[in-house]
Amino acid sequence: MSAVRKWTVPSIRAALEAKTISAREIATEFYSRIEKRNPELNAYLTLSPERAYAQADRIDTMRAKGTRLPPLAGVPVAIKDVISTRGICTTCASRILENYVPPYDATAVERLEAAGAVILGKTNCDEFAMGSSNENSAFGPVHNPVDLARVPGGSSGGSAAAVAAGLAVGALGTDTGGSIRQPGALCGIPAMMPTYGRVSRYGLIAFASSLDRIGPFASTVSDVASLLGVISGNDPRDSTSASAPVPNLLEGIGKTVKGMRIGLPAEYFGEGMDTEVRSNVEKGIQTLESLGCRPVNLRMPHTDYAIATYYILANAEASSNLARFDGVRYGMRVPESSLAEMYRETRGKGFGPEVKRRIMLGTYVLSSGYYDAYYLRAQKVRSLIRSDFNAAFEKVDVLVTPTSSAPAFLLGERIDDPLSMYLSDIYTVTGSLAGVPAISIPCGMTSKRLPVGLQIFGPPFAEERILQLAHALERALGAEQA
Ligand code: GLN
Repeated sequence: MSAVRKWTVPSIRAALEAKTISAREIATEFYSRIEKRNPELNAYLTLSPERAYAQADRIDTMRAKGTRLPPLAGVPVAIKDVISTRGICTTCASRILENYVPPYDATAVERLEAAGAVILGKTNCDEFAMGSSNENSAFGPVHNPVDLARVPGGSSGGSAAAVAAGLAVGALGTDTGGSIRQPGALCGIPAMMPTYGRVSRYGLIAFASSLDRIGPFASTVSDVASLLGVISGNDPRDSTSASAPVPNLLEGIGKTVKGMRIGLPAEYFGEGMDTEVRSNVEKGIQTLESLGCRPVNLRMPHTDYAIATYYILANAEASSNLARFDGVRYGMRVPESSLAEMYRETRGKGFGPEVKRRIMLGTYVLSSGYYDAYYLRAQKVRSLIRSDFNAAFEKVDVLVTPTSSAPAFLLGERIDDPLSMYLSDIYTVTGSLAGVPAISIPCGMTSKRLPVGLQIFGPPFAEERILQLAHALERALGAEQA
């Protein structure tokens, strides 16, 4: 990878305070990196320089006046293109929303800007966040900066690639079944899915509402904590957002993890895992043991049903959420003689093949005669999967697993086989169904120099503990250079 200077939240703050650089100069530096690198990565779909420079200038004015700088002052960030940004095109990487410009900001975006962050632009993803490789984007795939022939993971592939390539210091993604953690793992950066309800989804274009979450990517665990701290917390505009108070997520960072009980569920270390993923994750676990963590072997017996359960529930919800894209209110419309024809043509031309597949599967499992056999049963199995997590957290403080069964695969390798693509999510969908938080952090490399991700799950609202352990491992593995 190119040797670009690695900026972090603390190093930007220090440079701004020392007046060695201005927020405008930092933004300029990032736009010139994007200009150089984005054509080969395709990580950004839209840039928003006007808004970015206006914000950078606000920060520089504050600094000139001696006003105390907000926590993310001047930090350049990228936003996944399923999250609404006022006045900036938000496409969901779909033809159907190709020219859609939202009239308002998502709460997470509003909070980042209020904390001083500079929004550089919108990042590519799988269409409507459906996918694990970013190849389902209507605007072309994202290439993994570690190896351009490989996928960055998905669906938040553009956000992961942008941060990994140094084209943003932080980014927002969304995770419904693994879409933050898996691209984080495949691109070699920390990435966190917070507890369901921790971060407001107001302004997030819904895929599966009982699963969708917004969360951060960054190049250090401490930066992940900084971004997550800013976007977390109750929002009256999202009725699913939790009222639990937000602790200082940086608090645990640097504290000892001695005595922490780490659960190792047998089901996550079975067959089907790449041998080099296994050896690197095992090394990571040994490192945790050397820091004084206590490994506990346990079982989570319903894990095997998670993929089927997830794809029934996620698709059922998607078929309902995506009904609003009918050519009447948003985005593209194919004019036709009758209303029914207009719906058919607009949706037929506007959605890509994977989105259509999911709408059909989702409609099927919700249809009368099949509802009880599929949808209702999947809801019941979801409760069992959740109870596996509850039982585990009575015995241990966190769970440690691989994030993905394989490192970044080649572009095109799985695209014609939806089932093998769906199996990419085998270790991540469980936590999505259970509503618990999880992080993926880099844990070694394969012999082909492809990053491996280690996943840490915690009980609901235990983000601080997860970050504490992730930071200890990051430091022990020598990853943090900030
Ligand atoms: N890869 C999973 C899917 O295709 C997860 C996507 C996501 O988390 N948004 O549904």
